[in-house]
Amino acid sequence: MKGICILGATGSIGVSTLDVVARHPDRYKVVALTANKNIDALYEQCLQHRPEYAVVVDENKAQLFTEKLKNSELSDIKVLSGSEALEKVATLDTVDSVMAAIVGAAGLLSGLAAAKAGKTVLLANKEALVMSGDIFMQAVTDSGAHLLPIDSEHNAIFQCMPGGYTAGVRAKEARRILLTASGGPFRNMPVEQMANVTPDQAVAHPNWDMGRKISVDSATMMNKGLEMIEACLLFDMSPEQIQVVIHPQSVIHSMVDYIDGTVLAQMGNPDMRIPIAHAMAWPERFDSGAKPLNIFEVRHMDFEEPNLERFPCLRLAYKAMKAGGTMPAVLNAANEIAVEAFLNEQVRFTDIPVIIERCMDATKIRPADSLAIVLEVDQQARIMAKQIIDELKN
Ligand code: NAD
Ligand code: MG
Repeated sequence: MKGICILGATGSIGVSTLDVVARHPDRYKVVALTANKNIDALYEQCLQHRPEYAVVVDENKAQLFTEKLKNSELSDIKVLSGSEALEKVATLDTVDSVMAAIVGAAGLLSGLAAAKAGKTVLLANKEALVMSGDIFMQAVTDSGAHLLPIDSEHNAIFQCMPGGYTAGVRAKEARRILLTASGGPFRNMPVEQMANVTPDQAVAHPNWDMGRKISVDSATMMNKGLEMIEACLLFDMSPEQIQVVIHPQSVIHSMVDYIDGTVLAQMGNPDMRIPIAHAMAWPERFDSGAKPLNIFEVRHMDFEEPNLERFPCLRLAYKAMKAGGTMPAVLNAANEIAVEAFLNEQVRFTDIPVIIERCMDATKIRPADSLAIVLEVDQQARIMAKQIIDELKN
């Protein structure tokens, strides 16, 4: 029986994780659930899963949540608030596995704390890894933590690596990674129309049901850019070894090309419970609840090279990773601010890459050799991105 802490339990990945947990009550006990503000969803999850701890990061909402629990059958659940509480629950002795499923930089410190504490880290929060890069990977190596990718592509690549593979190690026989992408909702839209797309159009992903931020990232293909960086770190490869492949059916979730000419692919329906169940059961397998793949319904699969003029965010991610140091942290921070501004209808869809590139061009690269530097660079890039947004609005 393993204890699990789910950081970001009320989000899309958190909900899918609890669905898998509920199928295996003999294997997993929920120790802690966390949410930012959504206390109604958290309450329902607490009713079903009876965690020992519930974290509500927002202090006001945490107070309301405490009131709500007081006179209920859930009064023995310990409620914590503030972002430090995330680190506390991620490192509890009774926790074996931590699902890192907070969106964006807000998940960095808790994910890193879990890695440092030697937990089995189920990593969905790609932004944390992109920002902190080698610092995160070194924490995993130093503590002997297991790092298992939840992002469907990286989970697929992990499954296509040689037996007994450990994240962070270069598999010498693997020469290239083929990182698949659906191409998002605007794959075929004329480029000149992309300036006018609305937040609702951008979050309507053709194949996957996800949180709003990652849905916009998929539409700009920054998601694939962040994933390219994530793949370099998880599999110790260079950006040149990662080829992005547009595969609109999302049946193949990525491939590994070996030196003997073998290409291994992992396939399945686009259902995040598959990578989640893979990582939770690893090195065994168990039921995820996903429908079996009907290959006859798939019928055919297409593959295209991405167009970097249509998707400048992908080009920027390669530029940031090749530049190295703190540049991926700048890319990530500027993207988070630009996407939020787009969702709030303050800037256009096509302004997103403009904001990011201006931030990158105005920033001097530093070696990302401490967490303090990464956090400082992250804050500076956010301030700069907000200034650029103000200029664009006027
Ligand atoms: P989501 O928006 O649905 O959920 C985000 C979760 O993070 C929520 O539980 C929310 O309460 C919490 N959160 C938000 N801001 C917070 C803050 N400041 N402090 C603490 N908690 C906070 O997002 P999602 O789609 O579940 O994505 C989560 C992560 O998983 C992202 O990094 C995303 O890139 C990655 N991911 C998601 C999918 C997917 O299918 N949804 C696939 C691959 C990777
Ligand atoms: Mg993905």
